[in-house]
Amino acid sequence: LRILGIETSCDETAAAVVENGRIILGQTIASQIDIHTKFGGVVPEMASRVHVETITQVVEQTLVESGITWSDLDGIAVTCGPGLLGALLVGVSAAKGYALATGLPLIPVHHIAGHVAAALIDNAVDLPFLALVVSGGHTEILSVDEQFVFTRLGGTKDDAAGEAYDKVARMVGLAYPGGPKVDEMAAKGNPVAFSFPRSLIDEDNYDFSFSGLKTSVLNEINQRRQKGDEVPVADLCASFQQAVVEVLVEKAARAMKQTGSNQLVVAGGVAANQGLRKALQERAKQDSFKVHFPPLSLCTDNAAMIAAAGTKALERGLTHDLSLDAYATLSLADWQAGRFPRRA
Ligand code: ATP
Ligand code: MG
Ligand code: FE
Repeated sequence: LRILGIETSCDETAAAVVENGRIILGQTIASQIDIHTKFGGVVPEMASRVHVETITQVVEQTLVESGITWSDLDGIAVTCGPGLLGALLVGVSAAKGYALATGLPLIPVHHIAGHVAAALIDNAVDLPFLALVVSGGHTEILSVDEQFVFTRLGGTKDDAAGEAYDKVARMVGLAYPGGPKVDEMAAKGNPVAFSFPRSLIDEDNYDFSFSGLKTSVLNEINQRRQKGDEVPVADLCASFQQAVVEVLVEKAARAMKQTGSNQLVVAGGVAANQGLRKALQERAKQDSFKVHFPPLSLCTDNAAMIAAAGTKALERGLTHDLSLDAYATLSLADWQAGRFPRRA
């Protein structure tokens, strides 16, 4: 089964061809980071326009690199949500056009199912497993069964982990996207210099909250700026990271114990975080479960993960006709049941 994946939910224009949901034959990622960095974050209208200018070339280049033509493909998988509506629409429209021209099945893919499917590439992990999704817009604990069907155990009530990283980065003057830079600074600082809140850590659920933590960091910065004192960036980053990592590790480890699962997959951009990797690996050893982090290039947005998730969806018969729409918000439950709510 060879699937073309297309991803345009945010600021990466990406395409990939994946065989049997496991092997990447070719992939292209055109990042818009340089464009958005000037504005300190993703500008939605600009993202859409650049996707339009780039998508055809990205797809064609991917087919060439994969050494295949359209007739060698079995389906076209595309991220249809959640994400920036205008950005998603570019990928969905392109995929519909290609499906119409080739007669190939059109497979709608949920962006977070994509992040999780990154773990299937290169046979890294076998289903079933538990997934900790930590991305720019999501922080969730999901149970994933043999059929790649999701059950949501819990998630953030406010900010996502990556969002908190990006906001803290901005507060201490590190450029967008700040997550990796906070990670680097954290390695140079003292993680117990500040005692920031570990929200909901003692609650017996799988929910998270990071907005109080973010406010605490801001308060420390403001107090120093008012007094004209220097802001201890490395210590703030290290203490912030320690608070985030502790909560993520504690809740994930608890979910492993309570569900009896023995494999944890960490997915999404924050899975690249060195502090999180180290702490989860230690905890996994202690509690005797396996933890898997996809390679860094598959943690952030890419289309190979979309093709891998699309393969699983196609195996379950999840395809859509050419009336497929794009959705800024879309639950995993609706997606996997093939319920695509009508937009108002
Ligand atoms: P979503 O997938 O929820 O729609 P997204 O696609 O924007 O959001 P990803 O591409 O999965 O998110 O990840 C980007 C996020 O990961 C950003 O918030 C970025 O700061 C964060 N990130 C990347 N590397 C690191 C790191 N080393 N440490 C912490 N955060 C990181
Ligand atoms: Mg991105
Ligand atoms: Fe993402």
